[in-house]
Amino acid sequence: MLDPGHGGSDPGACNGIHHEAVYALDIAKRLGALLTAQGMAVRYTRQSDIHVGINERYKAANAWGADGFVSIHLNSAQPSASGVETLVYRDTGKAAHLAALVQGQVIKSTGTKNRGVKERPDLGVLRGTDMPAILVETGFISNPDECTKLATACYRQTVAEAIARGVCFWAEITYKEDDDMYTVYKTIQDVPDWARECVNDLIAKGYLKGDGDGQLDLEHYMLRGLVINWRAGLYK
Ligand SMILES: [Zn+2]
Repeated sequence: MLDPGHGGSDPGACNGIHHEAVYALDIAKRLGALLTAQGMAVRYTRQSDIHVGINERYKAANAWGADGFVSIHLNSAQPSASGVETLVYRDTGKAAHLAALVQGQVIKSTGTKNRGVKERPDLGVLRGTDMPAILVETGFISNPDECTKLATACYRQTVAEAIARGVCFWAEITYKEDDDMYTVYKTIQDVPDWARECVNDLIAKGYLKGDGDGQLDLEHYMLRGLVINWRAGLYK
């Protein structure tokens, strides 16, 4: 069960422009798509910008009989605070194992400060869930540098992929890497959504211009190199 934090009348942490609820939902949807592609059954506590109560969230997971519960949030504190942390009800057993794997993967993929796994017995979604449950604080919206990164789809995809790897390792499912990265497409209509998003982002940032008519050669090795660098997060 994926639980994007906040929503609707509760935007979560805000810095005036960026809202936790929006990015949490986006990361959760990316994560859900990745887990579905790995063969997992995925449900969400919310899939749009609506308010869902804490009790409704864990009750939905319990009613479904979910094997695991992953809540996605963004953190907020003084501007200097940064990094990723994963919260658990008790840092023991299966939930602690899930937390450690997810936290490790996100740190490895993002290179952000490791704030570790923390016990939070006071949080309703962690306390009320019958299955191993974690809450990932994916970065500080209050930190200007982290917020700039979190505002890019590329970074949110990197975070989602890292969480997906952690969940799959925990579930003892071999994580199949996305090998369509190495497939050559001839037209922009043929490429998968992530690649179209990537090409558009590269154009917006000025890395790609195409020829005089604005035509892009998708088979060109330089373009493919830019895409691979984009996937590695070099243009965040
Ligand atoms: Zn939150």
